[in-house]
Amino acid sequence: MIKAKAYAGFDAKSDLKPYAFDRRDVGDTDVHIEIKYCGICHSDIHTVRDEWGGAVYPLVPGHEIVGTVVKVGSQVKKFKAGDLVGVGCMVGSCGSCENCKNHLEQFCTKVATFTYNSPEADGNTTKGGYSDNIVVNEKFVLKVPTNLKLQEVAPLLCAGITTYSPLKHWKIGKNDKVGVIGLGGLGHMAVKLASSMGAHVVVFTTSPNKKDDALKMGAHEVVISKNADEMQKQAGSFNFIIDTVSAPHDLASYMAMLKIDGTLCMVGVSPQPHQIASGALIFGRKSLSGSLIGGIAETQEMLDYCGEHNITCDIELIPVQKVNEAYTRVLKSDVKYRFVIDMQTLKDS
Ligand code: NAP
Ligand code: ZN
Repeated sequence: MIKAKAYAGFDAKSDLKPYAFDRRDVGDTDVHIEIKYCGICHSDIHTVRDEWGGAVYPLVPGHEIVGTVVKVGSQVKKFKAGDLVGVGCMVGSCGSCENCKNHLEQFCTKVATFTYNSPEADGNTTKGGYSDNIVVNEKFVLKVPTNLKLQEVAPLLCAGITTYSPLKHWKIGKNDKVGVIGLGGLGHMAVKLASSMGAHVVVFTTSPNKKDDALKMGAHEVVISKNADEMQKQAGSFNFIIDTVSAPHDLASYMAMLKIDGTLCMVGVSPQPHQIASGALIFGRKSLSGSLIGGIAETQEMLDYCGEHNITCDIELIPVQKVNEAYTRVLKSDVKYRFVIDMQTLKDS
């Protein structure tokens, strides 16, 4: 077994605390990674606080992982010691169902193994990236671009792919007007990616103090969603809106922003269900849709795209000892625009 140091949640209410556990030994097809940086996704908070149900404690969150390969199994072809690599939200899937064969492992019909809080074949529960090392099957390890700052690449492994995938699926390009609801971790990546694809990008935010940042990231307009006049001016004008909000909010006002045949795509996972009247969809033949991360091949495509276009995340680097403070700030929408943990600081715990 391999010793790991980590930070874990021990119940839904308490702060995360230091935790030590064992990782499995490196199997023939495994890659052993020393974790350098791990982003803090809002999903980590939903999960640790058991807002979606099913939390298994001690729970080590973290699925925006970058680091260096320490060792590879005897049959690993793609990686060698010293390579810079990333691990995102998944570490396994059946590999044989229709969705896996179509590179949509996130929709594996036998259920993908997620990077943390997911049952494993040996009866353990996966433990994520708020730790100093991880052992992952090579199929779920990504090559990260070497021309970008490693700590700014980490959040691409979830925030990047979760916004890239729907933008590609809905074929967003220069003739599209795209709305982004919420300027947090996912939202700021949606802005950078959609504008890099040539779309006209409008941010809807509850935080007036984020306006200048949004424009610098590539947004063309910023709407303060609490301002009814500003909202009214945008009515009926969007092809596509991506909704990254982590809490309940009024969807009808955003359906009203869509043109005929427009799509509102949910990526935010509010723990409470939303309500929507049928009329909000049928007047204008509009679609309410959703999207979950992205497959492994598409995640690699996204990382390569970001390398080519020099796209990284705006981050605040923190020591692991500040993780609970960071959670409090994320919950207050006070994040600019992703917290990333420097895993070297685990040595001081
Ligand atoms: P985040 O950094 O906290 O960003 C969420 C943003 O939503 C906030 O910064 C805020 O932006 C806005 N917001 C928060 N509460 C709001 C409220 N009550 N009403 C209106 N706006 C509000 O979170 P994140 O890491 O980007 O994640 C966002 C959501 O996506 C989470 O639910 C997460 O679990 C989910 N997620 C889904 C997937 C997927 O595959 N579908 C993947 C990763 C994450 P403003 O200050 O600009 O208003
Ligand atoms: Zn995430």
